[in-house]
Amino acid sequence: MYKVISSWVDEHRQYILDFNKSLVSIPSENRYPVGDEKQVQEFIYCFLSKLNCEMDMFLPTEVPGLTEHEAFLGNREYENRPNVVARKRGVGGGKSLIFSGHVDTVPKGEDPWSFDPFSGTVKDGKQYGLGLFDMKGGMAAAMMALQLLEEMKISLQGDVLIETVVDEEYGGSNATLACLLKGYEADLAIVPEPTNLAICPVNQGGSMFRITFRGRPGRSFSGEKLNNPVFAAARFLDVFHQYENYHRSKRSESHWFANDPGLPAYVQGVKAGPVNLPLSDRVPSHCTIDVWIQCYPETTEEELRTDFEDFCREKVVQDEILRDMPPVIEKLIRFLPGTGIPVNHPSLEVLSKVAHIAHPGGLPIQGAPFACDSFMFNLYSQTPAVIWGPKGGNAHAPDEYIDVEEFFLLVKLYALTMMEWCGIAS
Ligand SMILES: [Zn+2]
Repeated sequence: MYKVISSWVDEHRQYILDFNKSLVSIPSENRYPVGDEKQVQEFIYCFLSKLNCEMDMFLPTEVPGLTEHEAFLGNREYENRPNVVARKRGVGGGKSLIFSGHVDTVPKGEDPWSFDPFSGTVKDGKQYGLGLFDMKGGMAAAMMALQLLEEMKISLQGDVLIETVVDEEYGGSNATLACLLKGYEADLAIVPEPTNLAICPVNQGGSMFRITFRGRPGRSFSGEKLNNPVFAAARFLDVFHQYENYHRSKRSESHWFANDPGLPAYVQGVKAGPVNLPLSDRVPSHCTIDVWIQCYPETTEEELRTDFEDFCREKVVQDEILRDMPPVIEKLIRFLPGTGIPVNHPSLEVLSKVAHIAHPGGLPIQGAPFACDSFMFNLYSQTPAVIWGPKGGNAHAPDEYIDVEEFFLLVKLYALTMMEWCGIAS
């Protein structure tokens, strides 16, 4: 059976890359708190309809109970941002499987790209595109796998669902919750976020904070004593750099993270003065630093925050400038918990078997070094979720890409997984 899968993919290499290109060429940038995923969702709806799937398209906010749910995150807008769910119904008697992923991308940003980010250019074994690695590519692989089964007339026992959701970036995840509340559950979910083909039964979590320093603004025409918050921020950057090193050295209790290179903590933005004006005319009133700090699944939101605050407090009291303009730490978006499936979950045996069939020696099984919306499945539904997606690089950066050969392998892996997990009907 693997031969059938493998030759379909080998004969459709150009077709697959063109499909990726179609997804990438329809921009779906998340411009928090709004986004414009509608066009790409309509394209996906149309594509999956042709594969004889039962289709559903709905705004997350149309789902009863969403905004009242404890995991709902406010201050986001959902006009023109529909979810799409396709169900390929099996003949019965098998286990069901959901491929769930987001179609919003981060904004293109101001940094220049070597290729048009919406072109899907293929060069030297890589295909480039905004959101292709994170994570239109992973969802494209699942859709290609479903088309493969349809064309090769391989029918399954269990249902396969493909759900493409909106607004995941910036801690969104409401749209994933909306699918669950609408009743789209299964015996297993695969979230094809980019894992470089590693099968990830658990993932890290994270929190985003804004640290604000306030001074006294203006110019001292009348001898006013000014206080420049930029100097406090500068001192704090050094404190954060020390925190980064301390944080990276933490180890997880979970053996899935045994080879983890360490927890990331990033400064993601520093702002002071009139950032939207061409010139500045005064000592600024305040300066802000935005940071993102990850944690292992065993760490609670409270523990992450307390650890960070304690580290900072100790440094702040030793510094004259920081004592004068102390940091005020506030949480920016929801805490994204690190979650996972039980260590002995039966899906791991199946995925590992599939990996060995398609890739001699198998694939790594390890914790994912990033946070995503998989916690919605693992904490708020009956559907356990693993993360497993394409190989590539430059997520949230210029020249985001997927590795083309490994992408073809991923399509094969997903098709095999559908067959092995859901069962072949005839
Ligand atoms: Zn993502």
